[in-house]
Amino acid sequence: MRFVDSHLHLDGEEAKDLVSFAASGGVLLLACGVDRRTSLGVLELAKSAPGVVRPFVGVHPSEAEGAGEVDWLQEAAGQASGVGEVGLDPSYSPAGEGGAQMSAFRRQVEVAGSLGKPLQVHSRMAEMKCLEVLAGSRVSRVLLHWLENEEALPEAMERGYYVSFGPALLYSKKLQRIASRADPALVLLESDTPVPYSPLGGVWGPMLVPSVAFKLAEVRGERFGDTLDRCNQNSLRFLGGKG
Ligand SMILES: [Zn+2]
Repeated sequence: MRFVDSHLHLDGEEAKDLVSFAASGGVLLLACGVDRRTSLGVLELAKSAPGVVRPFVGVHPSEAEGAGEVDWLQEAAGQASGVGEVGLDPSYSPAGEGGAQMSAFRRQVEVAGSLGKPLQVHSRMAEMKCLEVLAGSRVSRVLLHWLENEEALPEAMERGYYVSFGPALLYSKKLQRIASRADPALVLLESDTPVPYSPLGGVWGPMLVPSVAFKLAEVRGERFGDTLDRCNQNSLRFLGGKG
């Protein structure tokens, strides 16, 4: 089955197996780095699997403290499909003005804007702050991955930002509400591999994406195939293709 996993991480032992699985099924993986090492890692992986892995490079909010200057990003982003996973999250370290998270986020948004690349944003518990920073940027293609704040949805849709849903959609009533209200043309599917989903028995991996599409179709009262096709096209448009 052909599908796009629009947000995951490919690092360590399992990365090669996941890439072979994707290659054999016509699956496209939008793989994000979380720091310099993993970002350069996904760039390498993408070179060995063109058409299977589309690399995004960036410093995750969990890694912003101690990441130092992100000068390496400009060059890495030039070779990548986009910038990510970047953003703000006060559960890791202070996310306000003047802190390491905010300066890394602003800098990375600027790089994506200057290169005309799409951006993958982590906005947990800082959705409005992220929207505020993005408002002043030149980035036109934004993915608010795993958006959990219902109040941020109308503004995100208004701006034409994409939102993605992962396996948590299968059990979270809140995510199901958000998914039912989102503009269908702006919805993507993801697994956020290697995150395990304990309410689902600890399963993880891109192979969960079709189940997410199935749930999304149910929530929206659509046919599974139509939902999956549309999400695939949305992902390609987010990447800069026609979709
Ligand atoms: Zn992630």
